[in-house]
Amino acid sequence: MATITTATATGSAWKQVTCEGCGHKFEYLIKRSASESRDSRGLLSSDRNDVADVAKYGLQYKLKHETDLIPCPACGVYQAEMISTPEIRPMWLVILLVVVVVVLLAVLDVLLKNVSIPVGPVLIAALVVGGIAYIPLRKLSAVLTDTIYQYEYSRRNANVERNKKVAADLEKKGRMRSQPVPGC
Ligand SMILES: [Zn+2]
Repeated sequence: MATITTATATGSAWKQVTCEGCGHKFEYLIKRSASESRDSRGLLSSDRNDVADVAKYGLQYKLKHETDLIPCPACGVYQAEMISTPEIRPMWLVILLVVVVVVLLAVLDVLLKNVSIPVGPVLIAALVVGGIAYIPLRKLSAVLTDTIYQYEYSRRNANVERNKKVAADLEKKGRMRSQPVPGC
């Protein structure tokens, strides 16, 4: 019976930020963990070290590239790189289009009892239209992704006074540190 060898690496790092809103410098503590699992069948003991190394590498990658939502203590702005929103994929829009067509067909089928709708051909037509619409939908998905991001960015930064309080709180908890803010 196969067993699974798992290694988990946990760590933290201070991340330096120069605020894009006001230029104030601060740093915050980011904590992450990363796991790596392998089927142990045929694993040599050196491979076991390898599993631990991969977990450590994963941890280093996360600490370096990931961010937390920490507002600037001086101006209350969340940095653009801290805001993450889902990417709207073109395929989702194609699927949505096909689902809408299918639902419309079902509704029409109920409403117009005497008219028989050639469901099969219409469905194929919907798939063809979805395929043709893929390129404009790709553009639309980029626009939607950007719009959602812009919305989330302005929502996060709508109340900078509240954000400053969040920052002060994080500083008290030792999760963030910065030079004294002028005027405070
Ligand atoms: Zn700032």
